[in-house]
Amino acid sequence: MRWGRTEITVKVGDITLEDTEAIVNAANNGLLGGGGVDGAIHKAGGPAILEECKRIRARQGGCPTGEAVITTGGRLKAKYVIHTVGPVWQGGNLAHGPADEDRLLRNAYRNSLIVAAENGARTVSFPSISTGAYRFPIERAARIALETVRDYALEHDHFSEVRFVLFKDADYEVYLRTIKSL
Ligand code: ADP
Repeated sequence: MRWGRTEITVKVGDITLEDTEAIVNAANNGLLGGGGVDGAIHKAGGPAILEECKRIRARQGGCPTGEAVITTGGRLKAKYVIHTVGPVWQGGNLAHGPADEDRLLRNAYRNSLIVAAENGARTVSFPSISTGAYRFPIERAARIALETVRDYALEHDHFSEVRFVLFKDADYEVYLRTIKSL
């Protein structure tokens, strides 16, 4: 699928193996590593990534939900890791008005693209942010992810490829179905 000058691809895989200039990590607010894709990226990329995360944490106290920060890719093929923090699913309409989680998830994708572009990366891979331990419903998350990337790509000619790398076949099927429906 092509939106503007940006090719959007959807695949099954392990994001730590991707050869895009940047890969995105579904991190947490503390930036000190965790389970899921976060643990896999730190394990594969080595200690340089965590060292930079600690420096960012010392400087700005972590990463607020919906924001994004960048580090080296360490031993990964990717030059950069962009650490973003998606929302924990709370039910979709609590606290700050309807569907605050939707807005925060959109921010996570958009701010990751902005940080990648600021650093000159023209290719970037995303995992399915918030749909693991943070329990965001996959269908709703896939629509937000793909619409946010589409809107960015239609507004900016910067990226040559944005890749969605899904760890589970079932998640891949949802992303594929969703992209075809946009
Ligand atoms: P979150 O806390 O944002 O929900 P998780 O890491 O728990 O983050 O899950 C996010 C998604 O990442 C899930 O869909 C999970 O299946 C997927 N995932 C886990 N490991 C990898 C990996 N190595 N590559 C790509 N995706 C992964």
